[in-house]
Amino acid sequence: MSSETFKAIVARKTESGQTIALEQVDNSFLPAADVTVDVAYSTLNYKDGLALKGLGRILRTFPMAPGIDFAGTVRASENPAFAPGDAVVLTGWGVGENWSGGFSERARVKGDWLVKLPAPLTPRLAMAIGTAGFTAMLCVMALERHGITKGGEVLVTGAAGGVGSIAVRLLSRLGYRVVALTGRPQEADFLTALGATEIMDRAVMQEAGKPLQSERWAGVVDTVGGTILANAIAATASEGAVAACGLAGGTDLPTSVFPFILRGVCLMGVNSVDASKARREEAWSRLARELTEADLASLTQEVALEDVPGLADAILAGKVRGRTIVRV
Ligand code: NDP
Repeated sequence: MSSETFKAIVARKTESGQTIALEQVDNSFLPAADVTVDVAYSTLNYKDGLALKGLGRILRTFPMAPGIDFAGTVRASENPAFAPGDAVVLTGWGVGENWSGGFSERARVKGDWLVKLPAPLTPRLAMAIGTAGFTAMLCVMALERHGITKGGEVLVTGAAGGVGSIAVRLLSRLGYRVVALTGRPQEADFLTALGATEIMDRAVMQEAGKPLQSERWAGVVDTVGGTILANAIAATASEGAVAACGLAGGTDLPTSVFPFILRGVCLMGVNSVDASKARREEAWSRLARELTEADLASLTQEVALEDVPGLADAILAGKVRGRTIVRV
């Protein structure tokens, strides 16, 4: 193995918590596995914000580089499925949590965790999508598996965030009428440009409502949980489906059985971390088909690796719009 060094944002455990700093490390910093990747881009997700701030017990091993996703090119491989130069993407599998992740110029992971990038995706475009876009696609695929109707409206909560904004774009591209729920009315133009047909103020769904409300949603993509998810379920139309993937607004779910037993509403959980390889490949190939470079440009900002620690507070406060790509 080469002894040359590379840059990484390193989390180290201390008696009072953890430190985060940009460091120069070498290959001995990386866990043992069969594929080494030159990381070109990573991204900043809500979970990365928690990890960088030492919240939510996200980081489980020290020292390590946070960063739950990355894209780049294979540098060295002992796995027959990958060769040097292959463009690959990684999301989930506990990388950036219990395995050194994407805020590092180099990563070493199990080849089984990697997906080869389908054309025309580049590492940069793949990270404009990132874990958030991949999760949005898993939510859309869940609603499709349930067979929700295209005639009805689909609600997307946390719409101006990473998962939400890509869900709005995907659903509108696929022909659904999308209602975007946001706490940032100033992002209305952004959401309309992504294809939302109506912008709804988050405040109208933040108070606990009746267990059964007027039937409105054919489907829901929920990224926030809590009372908003409960109200969304209560207003889902007969035989509609709700894909729940997030907790940006809370981890509780104060609902009742009525929407399920009187309307046949289906609540589907979406977990991107452990999604099967087949589902990952399907999601990435559909993302490559359904999203254009222009779509992604409109919802992306790019930052340098050095900027990442300073952005953790903003993403946790819901102040980051769309996707933040990290140039590694
Ligand atoms: P972002 O921070 O980009 O987006 C979250 C959005 O939620 C914010 O932009 C805001 O949208 C809304 N929001 C924030 N705080 C509140 C609040 N108190 N009440 C209601 N809404 C709020 O995060 P991501 O898009 O990266 O992730 C969204 C959620 O999905 C997170 O909880 C994340 O952990 C989860 N997630 C889960 C995955 C899985 O595999 N299940 C994978 C990826 C993410 P707005 O300003 O429009 O109101």
